[in-house]
Amino acid sequence: MQAVMTGFLILLLAINSIMIFKLRDMKWTDTIRRLRNMAFGVAGIIVPEMVILLTKDRQIAYYAFTFFYIAFAWYTMMIFRFSVSYSGYRLFKVYKSPLFWITVMESAAFIWGIFSERFFTITHARWYEHIYWICRPFSMFYAYAIAGYITLTAAVVVLIIAATQSARIYRLKYSGVAIIIVVMVASRANSQLKQQPILMQVVCFALCEIVIVYMAVHYAPRKLNQRAMRFVADKLNDGIVLYDDEHRLQFVTAGYSHAVGLKGIQGIDNEKIYWDKVISEANVENAWDGKVMSVGRDDGIYYYEIQHMALSEDGKLIGTVYWIRNVTESIKNYGEMVHRANFDELTGIYNEAHFHEVTRKLLDENPDTEFVMTCSSVEKFRVFKELFGKEKYDDYLIRTAESLRTGLDHIPKCKYGRIGESDFYIMMPKEAFDPQQFLDAIDEVAKAYCTNNFNLVVKASVYEITEPLQDMLTICNKASMACETIKGDYGRRILWFDESILKESKLKERYNAELSKAIEHGEIQIYLQPQVDKSGKLIGAEALARWVHREDGLIPPAQFIPYFEKNGRITELDICIWRQACEKLKEWKEKGRDDLHISVNISARDLYAIDIYEHCVSLVKEYGIDARNLKLEITESAIINDLNQHVHLVEKLQAAGFEVEMDDFGSAYSSFNMLKDIYVDVLKIDMKFLGDTKNEVRSHAILKSIVDLSGELHMKTVAEGVETEEQLEFLKGVGCDIYQGYYFSKPMPVADFEAKYL
Ligand code: C2E
Ligand code: CA
Ligand code: CA
Repeated sequence: MQAVMTGFLILLLAINSIMIFKLRDMKWTDTIRRLRNMAFGVAGIIVPEMVILLTKDRQIAYYAFTFFYIAFAWYTMMIFRFSVSYSGYRLFKVYKSPLFWITVMESAAFIWGIFSERFFTITHARWYEHIYWICRPFSMFYAYAIAGYITLTAAVVVLIIAATQSARIYRLKYSGVAIIIVVMVASRANSQLKQQPILMQVVCFALCEIVIVYMAVHYAPRKLNQRAMRFVADKLNDGIVLYDDEHRLQFVTAGYSHAVGLKGIQGIDNEKIYWDKVISEANVENAWDGKVMSVGRDDGIYYYEIQHMALSEDGKLIGTVYWIRNVTESIKNYGEMVHRANFDELTGIYNEAHFHEVTRKLLDENPDTEFVMTCSSVEKFRVFKELFGKEKYDDYLIRTAESLRTGLDHIPKCKYGRIGESDFYIMMPKEAFDPQQFLDAIDEVAKAYCTNNFNLVVKASVYEITEPLQDMLTICNKASMACETIKGDYGRRILWFDESILKESKLKERYNAELSKAIEHGEIQIYLQPQVDKSGKLIGAEALARWVHREDGLIPPAQFIPYFEKNGRITELDICIWRQACEKLKEWKEKGRDDLHISVNISARDLYAIDIYEHCVSLVKEYGIDARNLKLEITESAIINDLNQHVHLVEKLQAAGFEVEMDDFGSAYSSFNMLKDIYVDVLKIDMKFLGDTKNEVRSHAILKSIVDLSGELHMKTVAEGVETEEQLEFLKGVGCDIYQGYYFSKPMPVADFEAKYL
């Protein structure tokens, strides 16, 4: 029996040593240090007990007992110190501690008593069929024993105080240790009162020590971890479901039903197989990489991202976690973001970048299909916007997009998009393209926006994609290039791109490159077209630009002005023309002909590019001419573009003495309405626009009413484009003031003009 018990004690000693070793590796806090001291203390009581168990020699046994009691005194002290530290209280410095000195004194007393046997004696006694050494204490011994009980009780009290003062989850941490110490006290009291061998006490102490270390080092922190994890998990809005290795549901967060929104969804009660299935099926296109499932609920579609994690330890599965996050919001935002990046906000069809992307892909994927690219564009859409408002214009764009959808969505390999403010592009297989149908569809929409006064003109052009490897921008440009050449040519509304258009565009580019030099070298010149009054007397002229090109000869303005208007360089050219006009006026003035005026054209672009007022005022000042003689023609469409601002400009110019003419009055839309807001000196009516109308009676009526109205508003009228005698007679009949046109003379070089008229 003794041998068995000794073996057991050796085992306890071994465990204790391992603990000492392990504790050495831990973070060296005060509590850990004290735990380790305690473990040493336990070793100090196990070793003498082993000696007591094994020896037959009374003297050795007595020494061992003495050593045991000394070690026990120190061990009790260590328990107390550990309890204080564990509870978070601070002790006095060791040497100041009375407990320390008491223990020192006790130890000294026991050593002194070793020879005299003053405190206790030992005898052999039978206990459970076996003979053990047993201690028989004398009265002095009780003082020592009581001191030990007081110390241990104090430790328990400290721990209980800590337990009552701490949060619930920490209570067990303290009270658990307190209970263990109470067990130790009980076992000691029991063996002392019954005068039993100290063996049971030592075993009990060693076991309790193991439990204390476990509590302090593993249990309490882990408990805290678990609590914290649980706390976090429950606060999460996500659903976390945990299954054990047998696929049994172990844990589900409070956020689960919130996240999934369906109470008692199958997965909760069923095995984890449900989730495996969900995961294998879940994958929502356009979501990101993770597995996302969509669930249709009464209030819309919801998206969940599901993550699946297998928990394993040493290569063995110990459980499975499914993490279900409600990502509806993010996916919707993401979807919106993608949509915003790829689709035109107003019409919902492809925007430029995405149109280029999808058409590029289409071309690449169908190298054997012949495609066409069409472009359609509203002419003078700014005027349309000004006249009818942005809403109406937007409405037109939306209607066009709708008509594209209904007309094209069933055609395979067909893509369309809105590019820029007013252009729509379509790419489709050539064999599916029917030009007439295309025009009809455009007309159908445009028709709804035409009024008596305004014709919504939509130009359309087509480019047969002969070189599908060109980049999309070039392909689209070729389509739109054709569209641009349609300007003003109302009869031919659909134009096919061919190389001549490209040639033309290259020519324009050349002109653009040459413009500055041309101005410098005097290639840009004014031609003058006479203006006469009712009596046929010359009263002035309109200055019209000509490019006398050193290689290409005389180039009419139609070839370069629209192009420069588009790219903004018209201002450079206009300034050059204005200067030449001023120079002429100066010359004429010097010759005593300051009764003649010159009208110059101001382009819409000029109104934004420079300060017209400043410019004109300083010009007349510089040349010393009368502002009245430099008449300023601004087209009706330029004025209408930004009426409020231009009304102000016109007023300022008039105040400075200039006469402002509204050019091309009545050209494409009613301008009557505008007249209530703006006062100009002259309305210039182009016969060409009236001539367009088949019904002559009607156009005469319109002309007459314009002249009448202008008279009432104290404005003069100029009729330009007068080609025939009849026209002239009619104009005289209705009371038009000034005439200009081929009937009198074509625009001519200044020298010719002067020779003929001055
Ligand atoms: P616009 O200002 O309306 O000029 C009148 C145009 O009608 C001139 O064409 C003129 O030659 C032409 N014309 C005159 N009488 C008749 C006629 O009896 N019958 C016909 N069929 N046409 C006639 P042009 O000179 O070719 O100018 C065309 C347009 O180019 C001008 O129209 C004007 O918008 C623009 N333009 C010309 N010179 C300048 C300039 O210096 N600056 C700016 N910004 N634009 C200019
Ligand atoms: Ca003009
Ligand atoms: Ca005109």
